[in-house]
Amino acid sequence: MGIFKIEDNKLSRQINLLLEKLFPINRSLTGEGNLKTLEILNEIIPLNIKYINSGEKVFDWTIPKVWSIKTAYVKDSSGKKIIDFGDNNLHVVNYSIPINKKVTFKELELRLHTLKDLPKAIPYRTSYYKEDWGFCIQYEKFLKLDKNETYEVFIDSKLENKSMVYADFTIKGEINKEYAFSTYFCHPSMANDNLSGLIIQTLLASMISKQNPYYSYRFIFVPETIGAITYCSLNTQIMKNIEAGFILSNVGGPGNFSFKESFDNKHYINFVIEQAFKDLKLKYKTYPFDIHGSDERQYSSINFRINMPSVHKDKYYEYKEYHTSLDNLDFVNSDNLMQSFYVYKKIIDILESNRTYLNNKTECEVHLGKYDLYPKMSGHINQKVSGEKNELELDQILWLLFLCDGSKNILEISKHTSFNPIKLFNIAEKLKKKGILSIAK
Ligand code: ZN
Repeated sequence: MGIFKIEDNKLSRQINLLLEKLFPINRSLTGEGNLKTLEILNEIIPLNIKYINSGEKVFDWTIPKVWSIKTAYVKDSSGKKIIDFGDNNLHVVNYSIPINKKVTFKELELRLHTLKDLPKAIPYRTSYYKEDWGFCIQYEKFLKLDKNETYEVFIDSKLENKSMVYADFTIKGEINKEYAFSTYFCHPSMANDNLSGLIIQTLLASMISKQNPYYSYRFIFVPETIGAITYCSLNTQIMKNIEAGFILSNVGGPGNFSFKESFDNKHYINFVIEQAFKDLKLKYKTYPFDIHGSDERQYSSINFRINMPSVHKDKYYEYKEYHTSLDNLDFVNSDNLMQSFYVYKKIIDILESNRTYLNNKTECEVHLGKYDLYPKMSGHINQKVSGEKNELELDQILWLLFLCDGSKNILEISKHTSFNPIKLFNIAEKLKKKGILSIAK
């Protein structure tokens, strides 16, 4: 049994409600859809919503202008809208500058993005750092366009010096050692990338905030890349105190679980993820750290070097619906998200079980019988026929007493002995209550 408890039906309802509310919103690096998104999450956890002005420098980068868009369409000469932003916000290249002109098919074609291999999908395209414009359409629709037509292209958008919004939420535990969770909310109407990460991170934060955790937790909500760079730049000292963390991204697909290792694959945070999959009897694939990916690129950069693996249920780049209109609410559902929630919940349970203990009785073995810790009948220690249920526990007690010299924590002892860390923790706490173990640090 985990340390944290949650109610199943309530969780499923919450996930569905959030998917419905958040999916239609047009998000980007900046803009009112982003604030609207954070305000919805703010109903669940009290976010610290923060603003940074366009033009401000964050390390090597500059906060972009704020993009807003009212309408956008392509009309044929009869006035019929053949592409309409109102139908799907992926139809317009994200960050398109305003445009209002007549173009030939040849000119229009240069501005259209399609996916030949996925003819029913609208691709997701952005042009954040170069002023540009364009439309994205289904390849099957593109094939039907009249090559002799003159088209009217209209994008009613603005790029203004305003401010970029982001947020965080911290939970103080018994000790200051901190784990960070980071997710991004800059994608318009797509579900796995990355509404799924946004929702799971919010619900995990909500769950932990209702408990009394041992460790402290930091939840970071940013537009991808520029937001994480901003966060690192404005919190340099705080970031250096983060023990390790996770990138919450692409956790709601129908496929198998996987995880992307942190840059140091020997770091215990990777072991924790594998242990969680093992405990839940889930199959998973391991992706080694790669320089491409999400915001671990910022958090793990030379100045910070935070180990930030990520659990995925259909990892980005690995499913055909990725970055298209087919990454929608048919692809992602609350059951998939619940599974990911439980994986992360298990990860947190394991992290919460990690302590470093000291055996107070270092001079030879402890007389276990004196503390009612020894099986009643002795002499059968290597005979697996006794059926005495304490037998395994006895092994765990002996290993804990042998190894708890203050140099090894529960995760290291678990790795050394192959005993489950949560079980070891529960036994160690029992030994602590009897005055045999104490907390080393
Ligand atoms: Zn993406």
